[in-house]
Amino acid sequence: MAGRAPYGYRYADGIWVLKPEAAAVVRAFFDHFLLYGSLGGAMRHVNRQWAATFAVSTGRRWLTHPCYRHGQSPLLRPDEAAQVDRWLRRNRTFAPRAVSAPRALSGLVRCAHCAQTFRVASAPPRYLYLRPCQCPRSPKCAALDYTATLNAIIDRIALDLPQRLARTDPAALGTLRSRLEATIAQKQQVLSQIPLLLTQDIFDRDTADQRQERLRQELAALMAQRDALPPVNLGAIARNLAIPAFWHDLSEPERRSYLREFLRGITLDPRQMPQSMQLHFFF
Ligand SMILES: [Zn+2]
Repeated sequence: MAGRAPYGYRYADGIWVLKPEAAAVVRAFFDHFLLYGSLGGAMRHVNRQWAATFAVSTGRRWLTHPCYRHGQSPLLRPDEAAQVDRWLRRNRTFAPRAVSAPRALSGLVRCAHCAQTFRVASAPPRYLYLRPCQCPRSPKCAALDYTATLNAIIDRIALDLPQRLARTDPAALGTLRSRLEATIAQKQQVLSQIPLLLTQDIFDRDTADQRQERLRQELAALMAQRDALPPVNLGAIARNLAIPAFWHDLSEPERRSYLREFLRGITLDPRQMPQSMQLHFFF
């Protein structure tokens, strides 16, 4: 631990000693990040609370600085450090706030009238809307304003999620995790059998290659889903997901990630919004 004392510590008698006031700032930053997984959000929170001007890059260093984890007076418990790493890993998969970043609702919403999935489409200059792809109806189902729909969904989550959680047994996440593990194991087994099917002429080379490729893609998606599972403190996280302001503070990729954490999908009828909206939970 050579060098300048990390923020929250001072050097005294050969060891790093906590400076309580500064340490409280770092701890508040950690608390916020542990709950929301948003680096920028955690820094904004701390800067607001303490009228400070810490840079996001400073927060990024705090999250991985060994002193906060393994020092003489660590500010993070090992399980919290693991959770920080989990968030960081997941956040790395987010594209930066680019136009090309996947929209939170793309692929998640299905039309209750024509059963098609809504696609996110844009119209210049910056108007976004949702339209059922290949709607077979005549006249076609109406397109929806993207932002208005997202807001309606967020409002509905705030309403439905706490009720849903109240009815959920805490083991539900464990169930989801084991279901994913089982599917992963099953697909891995199928994958391992392909060479055999090939030697037995059950598959030709092309079929085998295609199957392998598809299985690998599916496995990658399942593993990503498993790795993205929330920790056991979903209850605490979900309390915040029930606050619309929380959602408005997130980037689209972050929203997308959160939505996919507990929603299998959303169905709605564009003719009856928002009453027709239905959230389909994983648990
Ligand atoms: Zn439709």
